Amino acid sequence: LVEIKNVHKAFGHVEVLRGVTLTVHPGEVVVILGPSGSGKSTLLRTINHLEKVDAGHIAVDGDLVGYRARGGKLHELREREILAQRTHIGMVFQSFNLFPHLTAVENIIEAPIYAQHRSKGQARARALELLERVGLSDKTDVYPRQLSGGQQQRVAIARALALEPKVVLFDEPTSALDPELVGEVLDVIRNLADSGTTLIVVTHEMGFARDVADRVVFMDQGQIVEEGTPLQIFGAPRHERTKAFLSKVI
Ligand code: ATP
Ligand code: MG
Repeated sequence: LVEIKNVHKAFGHVEVLRGVTLTVHPGEVVVILGPSGSGKSTLLRTINHLEKVDAGHIAVDGDLVGYRARGGKLHELREREILAQRTHIGMVFQSFNLFPHLTAVENIIEAPIYAQHRSKGQARARALELLERVGLSDKTDVYPRQLSGGQQQRVAIARALALEPKVVLFDEPTSALDPELVGEVLDVIRNLADSGTTLIVVTHEMGFARDVADRVVFMDQGQIVEEGTPLQIFGAPRHERTKAFLSKVI
């Protein structure tokens, strides 16, 4: 479903991604681990073209991300086409990024109405379903500032799901939360995983990775050092860098 092929990305002289290749299958849950600065966020951002790759390519459901191949050459898509493409790729950030002046339900219906031209009634009905799914049926008309961090993040997840994405990307979705709120957000992500949604999750929650991931990918210095099932990665890491990382975080 997501095909990342030999992707390179530099900021100035700093090579942040150095030939990353990764394929994520439909319904798969892939957890990406790695030290700070290893390129995890940058990799996620290239998947929805928030960062342009310098070399290599990415395809989601067979469509090249950000480009169209024509006459043997790649042409970057227009802004409008890029936005349309992003509707298939949900993203949830560490900082929830809700619109502060919109209620929970308004946050969720914004994109379906403006990006997908759904009717307000239709979008609202779907938003209410999603709020129920993340356990917030009673917070429909509440503003973000009236919600806890965990609740805000659950609204952000509902918002990401509103466009019925083919894959949802999570970048450290619980890092900004007080410890007692982490569980409720991980439970929502776990339910998504169980329902067969394709997920790519960057997280430092090792328990979650172990329980929920189909595959764990360890990145360091812009490369995938090692990947395998949670059992392989946590039980018998093969590379020194993986071992060193895990010994620090577990
Ligand atoms: P963390 O665990 O701290 O979130 P990460 O693995 O997500 O780290 P990235 O955020 O992808 O790492 O950053 C990788 C490297 O790229 C870092 O050295 C960072 O400083 C650099 N970098 C990221 N974004 C930019 C940018 N827009 N301009 C310049 N350098 C950047
Ligand atoms: Mg990051």
